[in-house]
Amino acid sequence: MNSEEVEKIKQAGEIARQVVVYAKEVVKSGMLLLEVVNKIEDKIVELGAKPAFPVNLSVNEIAAHCTPSFNDSEVAFGLLKVDIGVHIKGYVADTAFSLDLEDSDENKRLIEAAEAGLKAGLEKIGYGVKLGEIGKNVQEAISSYGFSPIQNLSGHEIKQYDLHAGLNIPNYDNKSDIELDEGLYAVEPFATNGSGKVRDGKPSGIYHLIKESNVRDNFAREVLKFIVEEYDSLPFCSRWIYKKFGSRGLLALRQIEQAGVLHQYPQLVEVNRGKVAQAEHSVLITKEVKIVTTNV
Ligand code: MN
Ligand code: MN
Repeated sequence: MNSEEVEKIKQAGEIARQVVVYAKEVVKSGMLLLEVVNKIEDKIVELGAKPAFPVNLSVNEIAAHCTPSFNDSEVAFGLLKVDIGVHIKGYVADTAFSLDLEDSDENKRLIEAAEAGLKAGLEKIGYGVKLGEIGKNVQEAISSYGFSPIQNLSGHEIKQYDLHAGLNIPNYDNKSDIELDEGLYAVEPFATNGSGKVRDGKPSGIYHLIKESNVRDNFAREVLKFIVEEYDSLPFCSRWIYKKFGSRGLLALRQIEQAGVLHQYPQLVEVNRGKVAQAEHSVLITKEVKIVTTNV
């Protein structure tokens, strides 16, 4: 990674940090989720970056991959995860926090456990550290609260225009001897009072490009061209396509998906419908330094 790339990663991280401060002030119980995402995504643009993925707002037993549709009427409540991505020319910052919107002691403890898991993971992570050791640290921190980490969700390596690249950072002791290399990583533990696993739920309306291919319909081709130019292989959502192309865009999106060009993420739901809290930071690792880019 050259110094220009590092600079962009740091800039994206600083903007993400500011957006999180803003988001924590904005979100209130009973607010439309649609209003929340619009405010946060507008703030990212106002600060000179772009969303690296649609702001994810996932409530209670939904762990991740939930964003409002263009006409969504859901409101914020319960244990809310706010997951925010920022990018500058494909250099990404990925960060998340959780809020208790119903004054529940259980929610508050789950949030503390996820934050403690994140802290433990960030303390352990570094060049040459074995992945299993990072996971072990995260797991011990969350377990000390009497909760479980979600084992089939993990942190991940991040590369330019590639949100989930290469290595996964486990949230439990998976015994992996693989040693961490230099790079940008997201550490993101999830704490739950459920079983510690998620399953696929409903379609999320969040997509990403899996191959550059053609579609027959002219208008769908226009929409696909926009997706490639605007998002590259970063995730985007039907709400954004509606904003640009209206309801015709949603039909085109379905055609493009059916042509096998897009992958649609399913929502991820705790298998026992346990409540889930999440915490996340991005961290830049080199042989010499470790910089938590979203929390400098
Ligand atoms: Mn995230
Ligand atoms: Mn992430």
